[in-house]
Amino acid sequence: MTEVVVVGGGPAGSTAAALLAKNGVSVMLLERETFPRYHIGESITYSCRGVLDYVGALEKIEARGYTRKTGVLLRWGQELDWAIDWTAQFGPDVRSWQVDRSDFDKVLLDHAADCGAEIVQQAQVKRVVFEDGRAVGVQWSGPGDSEPKITTADVVIDASGRAGLISAQHFRDRRATEIFRNVAIWGYWDGGELLPDSPAGAINVISSPEGWYWVIPLSGDRFSVGFVTHKSVFTERRKDYASLDDMLAALVQESPTVRDAMAGGKVRPGARVEQDFSYAADSFCGPGHFLVGDAACFLDPLLSTGVHLAVYSGLLSAASVLSIQNGDVSEAEAYAFYESRYRNAYERLFTLVAGFYQKHAGKDRYFELAKALTRDHKELDGGADLAFGEITSGITDLREAKDDTGLGDRPIRESVEQAAARRSKVQDLLSATEQAQQRAEAGLPNTGGDRGRSRVQIDADDLYDAASGLHLVMEPRLGIQRVAVPSVS
Ligand SMILES: Cc1cc2nc3c(=O)[nH]c(=O)nc-3n(C[C@H](O)[C@H](O)[C@H](O)COP(=O)(O)OP(=O)(O)OC[C@H]3O[C@@H](n4cnc5c(N)ncnc54)[C@H](O)[C@@H]3O)c2cc1C
Repeated sequence: MTEVVVVGGGPAGSTAAALLAKNGVSVMLLERETFPRYHIGESITYSCRGVLDYVGALEKIEARGYTRKTGVLLRWGQELDWAIDWTAQFGPDVRSWQVDRSDFDKVLLDHAADCGAEIVQQAQVKRVVFEDGRAVGVQWSGPGDSEPKITTADVVIDASGRAGLISAQHFRDRRATEIFRNVAIWGYWDGGELLPDSPAGAINVISSPEGWYWVIPLSGDRFSVGFVTHKSVFTERRKDYASLDDMLAALVQESPTVRDAMAGGKVRPGARVEQDFSYAADSFCGPGHFLVGDAACFLDPLLSTGVHLAVYSGLLSAASVLSIQNGDVSEAEAYAFYESRYRNAYERLFTLVAGFYQKHAGKDRYFELAKALTRDHKELDGGADLAFGEITSGITDLREAKDDTGLGDRPIRESVEQAAARRSKVQDLLSATEQAQQRAEAGLPNTGGDRGRSRVQIDADDLYDAASGLHLVMEPRLGIQRVAVPSVS
């Protein structure tokens, strides 16, 4: 008897499947491809290291020899080079990797199998089966099947990525954000170099009038180089080039920074392109189902947070399923917990990325925004830039989910008034950056990348809903529970 069916074997699905199987749940994971399969999304946040350690996959990942990532270097807007150096901010243990995703995802999927999940590849799920509004299984075809079959389960976890089986195909409740209707074009170079002040193995993020570039040092002296721009710009510019390779080569030449970085390298043919519209489903879970990773929401890759959101939601969904099974909480409580935690994580990052796209605003403004988005920033020693580093490395989400249990060393819970004050500050900061943008568009330079896009519309009230009183517990066993924690005065 299959208790949980997971659709999709990317980082979100394999994390959920591994954790459920480790905790004695019978899990079947259905993946339409055969791994290893290509995937973009190579720069990994520090938080993933923590989750993969918890899942038990850290040693296997460490053994792969990926580039060791210790931060980010930005050449953004009018700022001089600006490093987020994890070692300097948080110490030598805070690091992650720049990975080959085909390899990384396979290690995680194989690990889910080692934990006891049944993995079926070349398994195309046609639809999730609903009865009276409740997901009760999936209809799918495996290798060699002449007819699709139905597998029933107590819970379906949709980890189908941007394909979005439940949201995009069943409920059709996926909403794209106008400002981030972006397209990415990228390719691979043999050889190249990072900007001089980069932390070891850092991703370089470089703004240009029409968008931004990434330069990622992969293992074996291979570099991933990409450019992200609004769809309208991409469509217009695409007409000028016979091929994607020609277009990417021209884009690299247009940026003196990227041109110089890749001057010693040799490009490999085969540029790729993908729409990377940001979107979120209206609902991240419901009776008998959870949407995890990109199946629920997707954020522009500016801060490299996609895999963080994938493994974080994989962890949260597994905790929710286990606690329903154990009777620790009701189904309704588990759904409220999951919806609130995952949506808060997404919307916080969304707000930060939206502020960041206002390129002229400057890093002090981004730091202020990060600080206002961090619930317990008063407890931090290093000030606002620490808040920015913590959010973008994924630390904040994990700490807030865990520390609220009271098991951490800083049990903190906001009062309603404190939450309202912080939300209002976020709104003020976003308004201030918008006004600055309007002034810049009226005459000051360096606003080209934002021109023609709609204004950022953030409802600050959505950022943090009233606390459900439910919190993630990871020890002695994974789950969610209600803990009474005194509010900070
Ligand atoms: C241009 C670009 C750059 C990015 N850069 C970064 C980055 O640097 N760092 C970062 O962290 N993130 C980055 N991301 C985001 C990252 O790629 C994703 O957020 C991440 O892969 C999400 O993981 P997932 O498990 O939710 O989905 P996926 O990794 O997409 O996995 C979904 C799986 O579901 C399978 N599937 C789909 N439909 C079905 C079906 N019907 N039946 C069976 N199986 C199915 C697919 O084959 C796939 O293997 C980037 C994204 C883009 C577009």
